[in-house]
Amino acid sequence: MPDYAFDPPPQPAVPILGEAALFPVRRIYCVGRNYAAHRREMGGDDRNPPFFFAKPADAVAPPGVDVPYPSQTSDLHHEMELVAALGAGGANVPADAALGLVFGYAAGVDLTRRDLQRAYQEKRQPWEASKGFDLAAPISAIRRWSGPPPQGRIRLEVGGKVRQDARLTDMIWSVPEIIAEASKLWRLERGDLIFTGTPEGVGPLERGQEVFGEIEGVGALSFRIV
Ligand code: MN
Repeated sequence: MPDYAFDPPPQPAVPILGEAALFPVRRIYCVGRNYAAHRREMGGDDRNPPFFFAKPADAVAPPGVDVPYPSQTSDLHHEMELVAALGAGGANVPADAALGLVFGYAAGVDLTRRDLQRAYQEKRQPWEASKGFDLAAPISAIRRWSGPPPQGRIRLEVGGKVRQDARLTDMIWSVPEIIAEASKLWRLERGDLIFTGTPEGVGPLERGQEVFGEIEGVGALSFRIV
């Protein structure tokens, strides 16, 4: 061990379904505007391709962790997303080899300070604080997976009421395309999580609300805003 001036921070990690070992998180990448109906509800059009942003690794909120309503917003939004967890790395990975990097999948929520995001967009400033705040990435346990990516329903309920209900096949960029595109920008490594974008139906969360999200065949998560 090197001699650090103080103890290094804890390693962010996510449980793996049915296993004792944890999945150590290296980076969290996210895809923006990857479902056509969500692009339209955000005021976008269908011409520009999806794009990437990131959250800090320690923004991950593993199962069982409640999420404090974040500071500096009065419009906290949910974005229910399929999360690809990588078990291998690579740069400039061709799409037809990209699924070989996948360790498994999880259900995740890309929490967003929507009011800040819109304000930054108007001022043409970076979005960072609207997406990368503490515990902004609640996630289920990771389910190990090989073969074609999940294709079922993706849905989110708030207080028992359905807010988002779509199909993973509605994605603009598929999982292998996302991995291929991301690997042109960064060398991907095992431990990376990729949030693959949200379908339509995003909306506000309030203190005390219970959020439940489920992806068919993958898993479910629930957390409370406190
Ligand atoms: Mn998102």
